[in-house]
Amino acid sequence: MNNTIKENWLDTKQRIDKANPDGKEITVIAVTKTHSRETIETALSLGLTEIGENKAQEFVDKYEMLESRKENIHWHMIGHLQRNKVKYVVGKTRLIHSLDSMRLAKEIEKRAAGEGLSVDTLLQVNVVKEDSKYGIFLEDAVSFLKNMEKFQHLRIRGLMTMAPYYEDPEKTRKCFRDLKNLFDQLKKEPFQNVQMEHLSMGMSNDYEIAIEEGSNMVRLGRTLFGERPKL
Ligand SMILES: *Cc1c(COP(=O)(O)O)cnc(C)c1O
Repeated sequence: MNNTIKENWLDTKQRIDKANPDGKEITVIAVTKTHSRETIETALSLGLTEIGENKAQEFVDKYEMLESRKENIHWHMIGHLQRNKVKYVVGKTRLIHSLDSMRLAKEIEKRAAGEGLSVDTLLQVNVVKEDSKYGIFLEDAVSFLKNMEKFQHLRIRGLMTMAPYYEDPEKTRKCFRDLKNLFDQLKKEPFQNVQMEHLSMGMSNDYEIAIEEGSNMVRLGRTLFGERPKL
């Protein structure tokens, strides 16, 4: 098992390098949802320090299980976060990738203020307006970010999207390009509490295309750890 993950990672690294001929820094989030503590330990041993989970409860369980390693792990909450779960997550993450509503922003601000913390998030954008996906529409992003100026404890550090699943990953290219354009536009248009540093796009199916289109943060599960057990 360990060796398989290692081989997968070496292969993935090569593919990332190929999609990134200029050698820009690309952060890899190892998505360990449904996987065990051992899998996370293996990822850490390979130098993968950014660990992503998509469910608050599973994240908190794993966080506690690995509390003794917390200096070595940077946790990323990448899935939709319900407001009643915010209190369990605040203070434990390097980045929440799934800021997808004003109500969630207010709850994060409130909890972060209560603990005297500053919480880094990414604005999740639903580029293709899929009903099944969370996120702010592209054309609403600027006004949403203006509204973030009033917050003292929640910070926006970039954008995140999930492309639709296509049999042919080439079809995701436009979605990634549209988000990169917004990212570049927002870089020139500074708001309080908003910095465009991370562009989190690309999953196992489409990360090479996302990187070609300017992603600097990819969220990888299956390509590193194999297919997840069907729940
Ligand atoms: C599961 C998940 C991923 C990783 O998906 P893979 O196809 O396994 O690479 C990335 N982002 C989010 C939000 C996810 O829930």
